[in-house]
Formats: sequence, structure tokens, C-alpha cells
Amino acid sequence: MKKTIEDVNVQGKKVLVRVDFNVPMDKETGTKITDENRILGALPTIKYLVDHKAAVILCSHMGKPHNVFNDTLKLNKKEKAKIEALPAEEQAAATEAALEKAKKDVKKLSLAPVAARLSELLGQEVIMAKDVIGPDAQAKAAALQPGQVMLLENLRFHAEEEKNDPAFAKALASYAEIYVNDAFGTAHRAHASTAGVADYLPAVSGFLIEKELKFMGGALENPQRPFVAILGGAKVSSKIGVIENLIDKVDALIIGGGMAYTFAKAMGGNVGNSLLEEDKLDLARETMEKAKAKGIKFLLPIDTVAADNFSNDANTQVVPIGAIPEGWEGMDIGPETEKLFAETIKNAKTVVWNGPMGVFEFPNFAKGTIAVAQALADADCISIVGGGDSAAAVTQLGFADKISHISTGGGASMEFLEGKTLPGVAALNDK
Ligand code: AMP
Repeated sequence: MKKTIEDVNVQGKKVLVRVDFNVPMDKETGTKITDENRILGALPTIKYLVDHKAAVILCSHMGKPHNVFNDTLKLNKKEKAKIEALPAEEQAAATEAALEKAKKDVKKLSLAPVAARLSELLGQEVIMAKDVIGPDAQAKAAALQPGQVMLLENLRFHAEEEKNDPAFAKALASYAEIYVNDAFGTAHRAHASTAGVADYLPAVSGFLIEKELKFMGGALENPQRPFVAILGGAKVSSKIGVIENLIDKVDALIIGGGMAYTFAKAMGGNVGNSLLEEDKLDLARETMEKAKAKGIKFLLPIDTVAADNFSNDANTQVVPIGAIPEGWEGMDIGPETEKLFAETIKNAKTVVWNGPMGVFEFPNFAKGTIAVAQALADADCISIVGGGDSAAAVTQLGFADKISHISTGGGASMEFLEGKTLPGVAALNDK
């Protein structure tokens, strides 16, 4: 078990908090936040710290501003090397153009608009630093009083952040007496602000990471049974790590989406033009044999909605999954499969879901994904939706409050389900 903010005394202390404020911004202006869910997600931790009279120093990345160090606005090595490779007479103009672009990046990927919005949400000033480890941030952090909140500028204005540079991590740590990580979305990366900084400070989780560990960790380590995993999405190859980890833990494994056709083909079926990974047929067979040997239920779609081309307006027919006519391709699970999957979900006590059941971006092929989301919302179980497409589907359908836990990290939740150690979690102190 990892320590949380409730396990340490934060009163009167300076606390450095890694949050995930990488919110989508209006592309044109770079100042209007188009989805503030990540800011809302960080509020419980921030409010707790403010209420307990900590001086709160927030930090986050935003986007991918790889070409600029904000403190001095000079070009990084990669950009410089590109310019130096140009003919001598072109270098001055290229440098100027690159600096101009960098200035725009700084503006567009600044966290200043987040500080403004956070300030409204908290009902108190959020002091925005002009830099990350520069003089402005240093002065503001030094003067910060208990109960006050400040936000450092975009961590990725420094290439050292993603390199997990020890000197950069130490500079961040020097602001504070305690480090809190509440950014699950970047916990699978060993960066200075997610891992390195924990070498220099007591390190605990915030409420968001605590919830991720409680639900996903709980399901993996000690699930209420029957434990069912539903895996969908395009490819066997991208989900095989999750399948291999979960096959040892679940009572039933449900496979939908594009990857189901590789399994159907491995069983000797005809899958027409459906998504197929020829080189994964053996792996599919081995996986099914493994499931059988372990005595777990391995559910594949029994019918499929096949289309005569890859478009929303294609002609369709519902056919058994192993009998897709030549020239047709499986785009969604069929109605009998919806029932079969829903029945298994209904009897489950824990369900983990990752990946859509079909090409849900086309409304005509979203039915299977919606049916699974509905079944999960109706079920009396601990329901966990791993980030990405399935999380978006559940939220868009308005089922979010009927799901026990929707993970805030796409890549991080996949790695967690694969059984990998997340550096941002491993760095936290044990209870
Ligand atoms: P993933 O990122 O691996 O979870 O895959 C998500 C993608 O899989 C979505 O963009 C879906 O459109 C795609 N997908 C799901 N089912 C199918 C299918 N039957 N045929 C082609 N693509 C699919």
C-alpha cells in the first residue's frame, strides 16, 4: 500500500503536487480550455491541502513543447543542430523563425489559462509562475504562505523533465518539504516530476492516484468474483499484454472489436475482409487453449454486423462471426452477442472494460459498444473502465456516474492492466 496525503502531516508545509493539467485547448488561441475534466479531477487533492493549511505548489505538463526552454527562450540542441545543418547564409533567418515559433509555443502551451480557471473553481487566487525552475518560480515558491496555491509553468518547457534529469528533479524538490503525485495519466512515465523528484522528498499519492490504485489494484489483486474482463479495440497485438496478465486472474474473458476476427479465423472461421492479424493466429489459438486449461470462460462474439465497405453508410447484414461472406467485413458485434455479453456482465461482481466492441466512431456501428456500456451501467458490480475510447464512450452516453471507476489514464491504465510497474507509483513511499 502506498502512502497518501492523509498519511502525512501537511500543515504549514510546502507541498509540491504533480497534477495532470494537460487539458485540451482551443487550437487557434491556445487560451480557451475546451474540456476541464482534468482540472476538476485534481480539485479534491488541492482543496484538502488548502484546508489543511499547506502551501500548495502545483506542477504539470501541457502538450509537447519540445523545442523551447521557457526561462531563457533559447532553442534546444535538436533544433540548433537542424539549423546548423543548413547553409551558413540561411542560418540567421532560420534561427529567427524557430525562435518566433518557440515564442508562439510558449504562449499556446502556457499553463496560465489553467491557473485562471483553477482560481475561479477554488474561489481563491492561484499564483502563476512565469517559469519552472527560474527566478520567478523560486521567488514565488519562497514567499508562498500556508493555504495559498501557485502553479509552475509547463514542465515540458524543459527537456530535462522527460529525461528525468536529477538536477532538474532536485530543483523542483527544493521548493517543498513533501511531494504528492496525483497525475495518474503520466504515472507510466519516469519523468523528473513523476519519479525523479521522489528521490529528494517524502512522496505520497493524492486522491486521484489513490482511487486508481484502489479500484484497478483491487480488481487485479483481490477481485470480488465472478471477475470478468471485456477487451475490445482494433488489434490483438496491442492488447495481448493485458490478455496475458488478466487470463491468470479472471473468471471470464470477453473479446470484442476488431481483434475478435483473428480469434474467429484461428478457430477456422471465414472472416471476409475483417481486420485480421495473420501473424497472431497461433497466439490466438494458444490464448484460447490457455483459457480452456485454466477453466475460465472465453467468450467471443457469436454474430457480427458485417458491412460491404468501411463506411457509416455501408450496406449491412448480421451473420455468424465465422461465416462472413467474401468482400464483407465485421464492423460491430451482433444482437445475439450483445445479449450473451450482457448476461455475463449481469452476473459479474467485478468487471474491467477496455476497448470498443466495433467501429464505434461510425454511429451505425456503435450499437455493440453502447450495449456493453449499458450492461455495465445496469450491473450490480464493481465496474472499472480503462481510459481511452471506452472511457469516452461511457462518459458521452451519460453513464459515468453509474460506473464505479473510470480511469483517468489511457496508456497508464493499459500498463497497469498489463501488470507492469508504473514508475510514478513505484516512486511513492509505502505505508
Ligand atoms: P484500440 O485503440 O486498440 O482500443 O482500438 C480502438 C479502435 O478499434 C477504434 O478506433 C475502433 O474503430 C477500432 N475497431 C473496433 N472494432 C473494429 C472492427 N470490427 N474493425 C475495424 N476497426 C475496429
